[in-house]
Amino acid sequence: MNITHGLRRALQINADGLATVFNGRRRTWREVGERVARLAAGLRAHGVGEGERVAILTMNSDRYLEMYLAAGWCGGVIVPLNIRWSALENEDALRDCRAVALVVDKAFAATGVALAKAMPGMAMIYADDGDVPEGMRSYEDVISAHEPIPDAMRKADDLAGIFYTGGTTGRSKGVMLSHGNLMANALNALGEGLFPGTSVYLHAAPMFHLANGAAMYSLLLSGGSNVMIPSFTPEGVMQAMQNERVTDVLLVPTMIQMFVDHPALKTYDLSSLKNIVYGASPISEAVLARASAALPHVQFTQAYGMTELSPIATLLHWKEHIGEGKAKGRQRAAGRATLGCEVRIVDADDKPVPYGTVGEICVRGDNVMMGYWERPEETARALAGGWMHTGDGGYMDEYGFVFVVDRVKDMIISGGENVYSVEVENAVAQHPAVAQCAVIGIPHDAWGEQVHAVVVTKAGATVTADELIAHCKALIAGYKCPRSVEITETPLPLSGAGKILKRELRQPYWDNRERRVS
Ligand code: ATP
Ligand code: MG
Repeated sequence: MNITHGLRRALQINADGLATVFNGRRRTWREVGERVARLAAGLRAHGVGEGERVAILTMNSDRYLEMYLAAGWCGGVIVPLNIRWSALENEDALRDCRAVALVVDKAFAATGVALAKAMPGMAMIYADDGDVPEGMRSYEDVISAHEPIPDAMRKADDLAGIFYTGGTTGRSKGVMLSHGNLMANALNALGEGLFPGTSVYLHAAPMFHLANGAAMYSLLLSGGSNVMIPSFTPEGVMQAMQNERVTDVLLVPTMIQMFVDHPALKTYDLSSLKNIVYGASPISEAVLARASAALPHVQFTQAYGMTELSPIATLLHWKEHIGEGKAKGRQRAAGRATLGCEVRIVDADDKPVPYGTVGEICVRGDNVMMGYWERPEETARALAGGWMHTGDGGYMDEYGFVFVVDRVKDMIISGGENVYSVEVENAVAQHPAVAQCAVIGIPHDAWGEQVHAVVVTKAGATVTADELIAHCKALIAGYKCPRSVEITETPLPLSGAGKILKRELRQPYWDNRERRVS
């Protein structure tokens, strides 16, 4: 299978059904299919040959979906760029993957002009309305200037895209995903009951990030609908949900928190909403509880995964973490391996550990990446023994439920004891004054690292460091409790995918010192 198989299928089963909605623009699968085949011809005319990379740097839109597909249709490779990167980081990535063409929109027009200057020879396409910057070709002109071409029919093993990782723990790496990888994930999600043909899915999280982007491949196979908003804002999401009768959405925990804590939540009709998939970073139980109280008719499904896994490894279905599941503590789990995935937990010698023992989470399946782009050593390390080593610590229970305890890089070793930052965050977040929180290790001469919490309070709420420490002592062991707390009203630094950048919070403390690298 290849990714364009999805489009051919949507055309076959639901040609006149609604494919995309953006900014009042509504298109059927038939229209999208025609546009993709024309756009593919245009990409080819702009130098995108078989296996050649075409990058995209735009906010979410219906055109993003078309680009994903046109790149595959013409035999090329899509490279979605992170919308939070600086012009320099974009240039690095474009050089790294040797892109022959770049698509930008209004938000990135100036960056695009600078990049075009820095990288002459790269074809530039402007995917927005209004004046087209000099040296760029208008996206709509490209479509109307070319006749549709037939699908290049790439093979399952062919490279479909280079997806740069979230950059949460360090420099992003280019993850090579094949057509087969992306379709394996799409089928796994469908097989688990996500994104059926009746879905009206809202792309609220950025489409460059696979956590959200990957839903599209399932929706192609099922013939569902895609609603896009340029970027996440709580009210933008509510508005789109109400207007388009959205049924499904993926939100990362920081977005869920902003969404459910928003004062306007009750003023919108969100009755169409059926399923919120959450994941990409840990969610605190307090935020999940607030979310399910605010939206009692909605089912919450957790996804755990990573770009390297196209991206889903495990799913925790709603029924598994309410009622009896909740009584068993399953709301703390990330779920079980999806249909086509296997998960195991290993120790430092790569040997499987017993149930309940914390080790590194490893994953095997057709959704596991081909490798990191032009990084053979890192690829060999990550894929040692045929398993993807996630860099996440976790354990499994005897029913196959996987519990993610922390990223290995975020674990704190204080006085020889392992402290999982996520567990401490969970405790802190239960305090009613806390909106957001991140727990990090800062240097301590005697203990190596000290547990430090950065806390953003809810609007109008106040709390002291001592109160928060006392609150934690009532919930978790003393050595896990923060020794120091920074209370702030400034939102925490977030990555382009909406994840808290703990490395940025840690950095000033570790400026001239080496932190253990796990
Ligand atoms: P980088 O690899 O560049 O540091 P990143 O790891 O954030 O960035 P992604 O591939 O977007 O890039 O994210 C995968 C990671 O996100 C996982 O390894 C895991 O640490 C975290 N994650 C994903 N889903 C969950 C979840 N449901 N619960 C906890 N953590 C999660
Ligand atoms: Mg990662």
